Amino acid sequence: MPARVTDPAAIDFDLPGKHHYRAAFPLDGRWGFSLVPITVINGLRAVDADGTGNTPGVAVFGGTHGNEYEGQIAVKRLCHDLDPAEMSGRVILMPQLSESACAGHTRTSPEDGVNMNRAFPGNPRGSLSYRIAHFVKTQVFPRVRVVIDLHSGGREASFPLCTSLHPIPDPAQRAETLEVARLFDTPFVYVYSRQMATGLLTDEAEDEGKIAVGGEFGFGEGSNVRGIRHAYEGVRNVLRHYGMLTGQPAKIDTSRASAPRLVQAPHLADYVPCPRTAIWEPVVEPGEEVAHGQLVGRLHDFGDHISEPLEIIAHRAGVIVALHFGAHVQQGSTLYVVAEDVSL
Ligand SMILES: [Zn+2]
Repeated sequence: MPARVTDPAAIDFDLPGKHHYRAAFPLDGRWGFSLVPITVINGLRAVDADGTGNTPGVAVFGGTHGNEYEGQIAVKRLCHDLDPAEMSGRVILMPQLSESACAGHTRTSPEDGVNMNRAFPGNPRGSLSYRIAHFVKTQVFPRVRVVIDLHSGGREASFPLCTSLHPIPDPAQRAETLEVARLFDTPFVYVYSRQMATGLLTDEAEDEGKIAVGGEFGFGEGSNVRGIRHAYEGVRNVLRHYGMLTGQPAKIDTSRASAPRLVQAPHLADYVPCPRTAIWEPVVEPGEEVAHGQLVGRLHDFGDHISEPLEIIAHRAGVIVALHFGAHVQQGSTLYVVAEDVSL
């Protein structure tokens, strides 16, 4: 039976067991609705696995951008697989937060042209994306303490598999956020700049004092095998960590002995814009180490096929945490990002 279509305001977040909905948000440009999938689980075990009796509540989002699929797939599978009889506490799962963008396989919503991950804190009288963001802010966030938003590079950039967070001033919030970020066992945990953009889902959650973790689980509008595994098993690890599922968090990538490597790129100077529109030939891979002055890639002009390419040289030493994905790159697009090791 398909999930029940409902007015978003009518969802009962306290109902015991597992309940699937499609929350109907009216469209702006025509008569109809964006049916946003949402699964609410209230575990049936009276006491959580660690016996403390209090669980934080966890919300997990996929499809905040419509052309990023690993999170959509992982969260959809969790909607199916998580068994309330084995759980305590509340989990709210939204596999396609920007449902209209997901239906269109686009980063932003084709209904209102808005990037869902710039629409927070939302607006009840705004266009579709702002109203969905407002729903998350006013109906989902108050019911959870842990917020996970699963992204991938789409057509923007290629990343090494990572979870991510912003610099967090409060030491206790920072320590717990890092602990949760590490549970996904990705090769990298990446602390990135808040200056690049505002209105992010995780910005909003962080500002409310929540434990908010993002992540990049693939790129290129594909379905990355390892990325989906880290996203899916990572959420299960988070639920185990908080005693909402029984058992201990488990190593996800058994081929890598090391813990996730913590790196940061908090300064805008390390997000290097492309100097001219061209064809991009990277010569390094995401996650690779570069030295100061090392060649990162070449920009080619096919208006003259014997012209010298413009060489892009690393402005500092570090690890490449993002590279422009498409070969066709426009002036001003972020070409690469260099990060450095950090201990927090
Ligand atoms: Zn994204």
